[in-house]
Amino acid sequence: MFTQSFKEEMMRLCMEEAGKAIEGGNRPFGAVLVSEIGEVIARAHNTVNSSCDITAHAEINLLKDACNKLGRIDLSGYVVFCNAESCSMCMTAKIKAKINSVYYPLFFTKRCRK
Ligand SMILES: [Zn+2]
Repeated sequence: MFTQSFKEEMMRLCMEEAGKAIEGGNRPFGAVLVSEIGEVIARAHNTVNSSCDITAHAEINLLKDACNKLGRIDLSGYVVFCNAESCSMCMTAKIKAKINSVYYPLFFTKRCRK
């Protein structure tokens, strides 16, 4: 659906948002919401520490902003890009919002115990 260069650009935007999170004393998470045709609707980052709100994860902030901008809570047809895998709260919120699909970077590695 999206070209590789578009996905890389969206990940770059996520990393920009993650940088804003760090600057604000928050954990380094960013997210971007786009339409099926690749229009950027919203960008957000983690603000848990700076807003003293344990629910202010990047994706929650993103979904709230997108719903406000679009004037609806059904985000069918929209796609989320994140710089990290979702926690259960964010995953549930995306399911409730009927997000079509989610892209994560491929550079994650899992640490194994020896
Ligand atoms: Zn989360």
